[in-house]
Parts: sequence; C-alpha cells; structure tokens
Amino acid sequence: MKEKLIRFMQGRYGVDSFSKFMLISGLVVVMLSSFLSGNILGVICYVAGWFLVIFCYFRMFSRNITKRYAENQTFLAKTYKIRSFFQGQKNVWKLRKTHHIYKCPNCKQKIRIPRGKGKIEIRCPKCSTTFIKKS
Ligand SMILES: [Zn+2]
Repeated sequence: MKEKLIRFMQGRYGVDSFSKFMLISGLVVVMLSSFLSGNILGVICYVAGWFLVIFCYFRMFSRNITKRYAENQTFLAKTYKIRSFFQGQKNVWKLRKTHHIYKCPNCKQKIRIPRGKGKIEIRCPKCSTTFIKKS
C-alpha cells in the first residue's frame, strides 16, 4: 500500500505550505457554511470551501512541479509579514517566562531584560536613555 502510494506520488508535486493553508481554510469555510445553512451565503461558502480542498489535492498530485513551486513561493512572499508577525508573537510569549520586555520611554525601542534581578537601571542601546525598572 505504502509502495503504491510512493509510486503514485513519483514525479508529482506533493504537499507544501500553500496546499496546507488551502486545505485548512477550505475545511474551516465548509464548517462555517453549516452554520449558514438555508442561506445563499452558506451555499457559496460550502462550494468555495470544497473548491479550496479540491484545488489543494490538484496541486498535490500535479506534475507541473515548476509552476506549483512558483505558486508556493508567491504565497510565501505574500504571507511573509503575517507569518513573521505570528512568529514574533510566539517568541514574545516564550520570552515572557525568562525576560521582561520594556520599551524605551524615549525612542520606543524594545529592550529585553532577564527577570529576577531586582530594580535595575536600563540603558537603551539605540538612544542611550537610561531608565529604572524592576526586572
Ligand atoms: Zn531609546
């Protein structure tokens, strides 16, 4: 079974971030459509959601690897800002355990201070303003 699948996927594009995104958003839209049943909007959501899911599979099994690769690159470039924002939020969340993040009162530069050092004087690396905070 696994071998068959491998042989089937040979020369085909496979899964990438763009496909994953389409599959997940497609399924979400289909789920949303069930809340809108009996409504024309529900029908549109339902069709659009399944269209996304089918398109995802179409890309996975596509033999036009160059084109699919280019699509994924475009997708990644277009979502770069959003993805790096979420990545940043994740990092901030992780850092909260070990560090405080203060903003310089003068230039708003973010400064990372390790926790548990008592009251300390912080010097902004950007504008050299000093301020006192509890770490
Ligand atoms: Zn500053």
